[in-house]
Amino acid sequence: MYSLTFSVLFVGFLLLTLLVRFWLSSRHIRHVLAHRSAVPAEFAEKIPLAAHQKAADYTVARTKFGILTLLVNSAVLVGFTLLGGLQLLSSLLLQWLDGPGMVYQLCLIGAFAVISGLIDLPFDYYRQFVLEARFGFNKMTRGLFFADALKTGLIGAAIGLPLLWVTLTLMDKAGKLWWFYAWLVWSGFQLLMLVLYPTVIAPLFNKFTPLDDDSLRARIEGLMSRVGFASKGLFVMDGSKRSAHGNAYFSGFGAAKRIVFFDTLLARLAPHEIEAVLAHELGHFKLKHIAKRIAVMFAISLAFLALLGYLKDQAWFYTGLGVNPLLFGSNDAMALILFMLALPIFTFLLSPLSSLSSRKHEFEADAFAAQYTNAQDLVSALVKLYEDNASTLTPDPLHSAFYDSHPPASLRIGKLHATH
Ligand SMILES: [Zn+2]
Repeated sequence: MYSLTFSVLFVGFLLLTLLVRFWLSSRHIRHVLAHRSAVPAEFAEKIPLAAHQKAADYTVARTKFGILTLLVNSAVLVGFTLLGGLQLLSSLLLQWLDGPGMVYQLCLIGAFAVISGLIDLPFDYYRQFVLEARFGFNKMTRGLFFADALKTGLIGAAIGLPLLWVTLTLMDKAGKLWWFYAWLVWSGFQLLMLVLYPTVIAPLFNKFTPLDDDSLRARIEGLMSRVGFASKGLFVMDGSKRSAHGNAYFSGFGAAKRIVFFDTLLARLAPHEIEAVLAHELGHFKLKHIAKRIAVMFAISLAFLALLGYLKDQAWFYTGLGVNPLLFGSNDAMALILFMLALPIFTFLLSPLSSLSSRKHEFEADAFAAQYTNAQDLVSALVKLYEDNASTLTPDPLHSAFYDSHPPASLRIGKLHATH
């Protein structure tokens, strides 16, 4: 009985999520098209009409493609759950393997990950070689694309399988509070990744060379000492080997913290604009946004793991999602997969909350940059970045509130002008 209720709830939330996402996408497309014919007044002197229209077309193309992937992903989700895909996969593995032990569990998750990855691959391919290419953003060769996919899979297996083994062992042997121990392990792992990602994993995909432009270096070091930020790591990343999109980011913590500029960004911005963009990134660090984000992530993952600790012992959680739990043998791997599949459906409507807090941080980092550098430099850098990335200047406000981690350009620039 509970299982039917849960199935109905799952389908209800899935339909609600789909409906809201369709509605937001169609609003967004209509809003962008309605503003396609003229550059917004505050940007009229800075951005040519052709660039504005390219941004509109790029936004509409991406949003339409988003609707297609949303439909396919929802069909795959229902196929895995209510239509019995996971049940079938589990039965096949049980026939091939001798019993539902650890090997069965790792194979179940592995097979699920491989199938999901293979379904995603043609969409990623289309995005890169058709959509991005049509607007001149793709710089990737097909060889690099498939090498990346293979490398990502191998690294995922090398890191994921041991972590899964530890998690499944805790679920099996650590008693009622397994989820708490699992949380300690995952949190430790996340912190480890903050150090390992920039130093070990990212270099497997890109080349990082120390910034060797002396006058730019001196300018940046001046800014860092004004702000009170110590880091020896200033790197340039060869982002141009994959995409024309530009970016700068800041990663790691403690001795491993480093600042990374995409070569595409350095090629496009003047030194004083680079300084302003960097001041914004340093603002995120100095205002403790990164530490806050990590703390929130840890708190949320503790709550979700506690929920999983409860759900994994409820038969309706499995049957409600189209799986008959094994009577003899462990259902832990299946519980992990079902939880990962179902959770986003039930939490989607909360996504504006995370966008809201992220946008607040963006405004604070902009204000920080305006305090330590020239606000006009950040404005001109943002305008160039918007133009180069073909980001729309006229997003639908509701769509933006739901999805965008950054406030719309007009609001950011409006605030920066106000601080001047
Ligand atoms: Zn930011």
